[in-house]
Amino acid sequence: MRVAVFNTKPYDEKFLTAANQTLPPAEAHELEFFESNLRPGTTALAAGFPCVCIFVNDYLNRQALERLKQGGTTLIALRSAGFNHVDLAAAAELGMTVVRVPAYSPYAVAEHTVGLILALNRHIHRAFNRVREGNFALNGLMGFDLHGTTVGIVGTGKIGLIVAQILGQGFGCHILAYDLYPNPELETIGGRYVDILSLAAQADIIALHCPLTPETHHLIDAKAIEYMKPGVMIVNTSRGALIDAAAMIGGLKSGKIGYLGLDVYEGEEELFFEDFSNEVIHDDVFQRLLTFPNVLITGHQAFFTRNAMVSIAETTLQNISDLEQGRACANVVTTS
Ligand code: NAD
Repeated sequence: MRVAVFNTKPYDEKFLTAANQTLPPAEAHELEFFESNLRPGTTALAAGFPCVCIFVNDYLNRQALERLKQGGTTLIALRSAGFNHVDLAAAAELGMTVVRVPAYSPYAVAEHTVGLILALNRHIHRAFNRVREGNFALNGLMGFDLHGTTVGIVGTGKIGLIVAQILGQGFGCHILAYDLYPNPELETIGGRYVDILSLAAQADIIALHCPLTPETHHLIDAKAIEYMKPGVMIVNTSRGALIDAAAMIGGLKSGKIGYLGLDVYEGEEELFFEDFSNEVIHDDVFQRLLTFPNVLITGHQAFFTRNAMVSIAETTLQNISDLEQGRACANVVTTS
């Protein structure tokens, strides 16, 4: 199939090209790579392509989907697990199929989450800079033992469960969890489900691993912070808009939030995956967050391991092949 691959960086091209070569020759795809993102204003680039392949910061609302359909596109292949950036109802109405990569090394994201927790707790990001400048003072670098702390995990699917395993069984943390659909495995590894307010009230560390939906939008806002323990650590490697980023500033200034680790950010579409190091960044909330010593932000890199890139590329192209060949594909995203 002719596939217009958007938002591509050299690493995307490398892994997708390699995966394409592993398909049976008759099923190999004609991949055309575009650096541009795919949004309502850039759909013209996809004209004539039956399939577009997009990533997390592409944005397909109804208008974009209608334009793509007019240009002959019927298949949207996501290189991500999350699908909050595509209007699924509009796609269904237009007869377009959306397919995703539901699982690709959940370890990648879980391990990055734990990395953020360790770095924030032990101030590794600050120690790195200090030592490079010949400053070996320890003032301000004191952490706490993770062993014995209470971790609250919101969303215990593939990633949340691994975080629970690493922190519960590896570090000896007490694991509390909240999920609309509790996962029996969590209890077999010593975790305990509680309601969301009890989780907020008891957790020393809160890690978000649920999807972004209308219900979870701004799950952590100024009101939610009030229920939390003073000095709580909040880590979000899921989707930016789970957190009201502006509300975090007040919580950080008052000390209610002791640590904030983000791999995702509400306004990341305008920033992440690009180099703005020679430019002025206009997002004042983001810039203010960066001024706090106890905030650590990475640019949506939790997924970015070699293993995950291989898996994303292989599953994406297999999804396209399965749909092109009329085979059943379990990775089709539906509105229900
Ligand atoms: P998953 O579908 O396996 O698990 C999500 C869990 O969240 C499920 O158990 C579900 O029941 C639960 N959930 C849904 N709505 C909820 C709600 N309102 N409250 C509480 N729990 C709710 O997904 P996963 O593979 O574990 O991924 C989790 C999230 O991580 C994804 O939604 C995605 O947004 C994010 N993600 C981020 C990166 C990254 O690079 N930062 C990479 C992959 C995935």
